Amino acid sequence: MHRDTLAVRVAVDKSQYGENSEALYLTSSFIQSDAETAVRRFAGEEEGFTYSRFTNPTVTSMEQRLAALEGTEACVGTASGMAAILLLCMGLLKAGDHVICSQSVFGSTIKLIGGEFGKFGVQTTFVSQTDVAQWRAAVQPNTRLLFAETPTNPLTDVCDIQALADVAHAAGALLAVDNCFCSPALQQPVKFGADLIIHSGTKYLDGQGRVMAGAVCGSKQLIEEKLVLVLRSAGMTLSAFNAWIVLKGMETLSIRMQAQSASALALATWLEAQPAIARVHYSGLKSHPQHALAMRQQSGLGGAVVSFDVKGASPEAARQNAFHLIDSTRVCSITANLGDTKTTITHPASTSHGRLTEEQRQAAGIGQGLIRVAVGLEHIDDLKADLARGLDTLS
Ligand SMILES: *Cc1c(COP(=O)(O)O)cnc(C)c1O
Repeated sequence: MHRDTLAVRVAVDKSQYGENSEALYLTSSFIQSDAETAVRRFAGEEEGFTYSRFTNPTVTSMEQRLAALEGTEACVGTASGMAAILLLCMGLLKAGDHVICSQSVFGSTIKLIGGEFGKFGVQTTFVSQTDVAQWRAAVQPNTRLLFAETPTNPLTDVCDIQALADVAHAAGALLAVDNCFCSPALQQPVKFGADLIIHSGTKYLDGQGRVMAGAVCGSKQLIEEKLVLVLRSAGMTLSAFNAWIVLKGMETLSIRMQAQSASALALATWLEAQPAIARVHYSGLKSHPQHALAMRQQSGLGGAVVSFDVKGASPEAARQNAFHLIDSTRVCSITANLGDTKTTITHPASTSHGRLTEEQRQAAGIGQGLIRVAVGLEHIDDLKADLARGLDTLS
């Protein structure tokens, strides 16, 4: 069946009541018919639910639906996107292993892989998002994992998933891709050779800014043998309630991503023509350095996150102008989250990237005039007017 159909139909079997909307199973444990059945289920010899830290029917429904959308055999739900990356690293790495990671991934990912796992003897090399030669040059005999995120936040740099998969596989390593920004509605990394897909369900999968959730998708062998066993002991389990929200969110994922991408392209095109703006970062624009690659990987769409640099004679002036624009909005929510139906606006240099030194920020291309907008479902004319209010009154 087509993915649009799977997005609304894949789930565990209905209960005896025949509910049309999937049931929410808020229970911590499951009654076993007899002691021998319990023995078989706890030993993993028989399918069946036992305890919700291990599995829960609502969580299983969410996992099956997301796997269907990503085109993978299996999926495991986690408490958050960061819990998914924690599970990935716990399941795949041990002391003495080496990881290659893009230097442009989500800030907490850099802290978790480079910092926390560094404490346990895992060594990480951070390389350029876009220069495949740097990834190849970083390979060591003990390299086990390559980790990428595309497009990146907030500058929308795109990496070539197929090229990184080739580097990983030639080295006997696995490629994991954080697919949070495009979601499977636009990009299915397994098609380009990725082995494992990371999700923050908090973003577009829920899509309405309600719950924390995460997931890892991949082959049955990797998910069940390497990750699920760790999750059962470590307990970064997805709650049934949050799984249910994400399960229902995925039913509208494709139409939301298409509508929000269309608005983002219209907004990016309009921003590019504004005299007070120095540069717009959006992979859907022809001016984007990896436009052709992005269109190939992302079903011809740019996604819903647009960033732009407001002009300023000095970094201080650019920051003042950016704050003026942000503070002049009345529709956009001033918040660092994204993936919501409500458009959000943020100043990365002082929020998501606020803990970096000015030098590190310069290297990452996060200027003081940079603003990120995650476009929601409001009317495009209202969003333009909301940004025009600040742009038209810049000193
Ligand atoms: C938000 C985010 C995460 C972390 O997800 P949480 O659900 O907040 O833990 C990871 N990667 C990317 C790209 C994100 O945007």
